[in-house]
Amino acid sequence: MLERFFPDLYVKSIFDIPTEELKKRGIKALVFDIDNTVAPFDVAEPDDRTAGLFKSFASEGFSLCLLSNNNKERVELFNRKLGAIAVFKAGKPGIKKLNEAMKNMGSDKSSTAVIGDQVFTDMYCAHRAGVLAIYTEPICSRDQLITKVKRGAERFVLNIYKRRKGNGGI
Ligand SMILES: [Mg+2]
Repeated sequence: MLERFFPDLYVKSIFDIPTEELKKRGIKALVFDIDNTVAPFDVAEPDDRTAGLFKSFASEGFSLCLLSNNNKERVELFNRKLGAIAVFKAGKPGIKKLNEAMKNMGSDKSSTAVIGDQVFTDMYCAHRAGVLAIYTEPICSRDQLITKVKRGAERFVLNIYKRRKGNGGI
C-alpha cells in the first residue's frame, strides 16, 4: 500500500543526483518539482549554482522539465534562467501533464525520472506514470501552511521506507 509513495532513489539534494547511474538505466529526461526541490518555495529565481547544475545536466544530454503545481507566474519566472520545458498547475499526483511533458521531450516512462520532495505528490505521480521516482530532502523548513500539515504524514511514510531499506534508505 505505502509502496506507491516510496522513492526508487533517495538523494539529499538535486546536487546529489547520480547522473552516470541514471544514464546507465537509460534515463534521458529529468522532470523536476520546483518548490523545496530546486529552490525554497519563497525564492523567486534559481541561484547561480542551481542554474549551473541545470546547464551541466543539459550538457550531459538530459532533457529538462519543471513540473510544478504552482502557478504560471511562479513557474515562468523561475524558468527564465533555466530554459527548461516549464509546466505550471501540473495537478500532481495526476499524470496528465507529466505524460504531455514526456511527449514534448520525446521521452517515455522508461527514459524519464521525476525528482521531488513530496511523497504524496511527486513520488506518487512518478509511480502512477511508471517513471523513476527520485526523492530529494526538502530544501527548506519554511513551508506553505498546507505543506506543513502534510509533512508529518510524509515523515511517517519515509520512516517506514527507511526502516524497510534498513540503511537510511540511501
Ligand atoms: Mg515540492
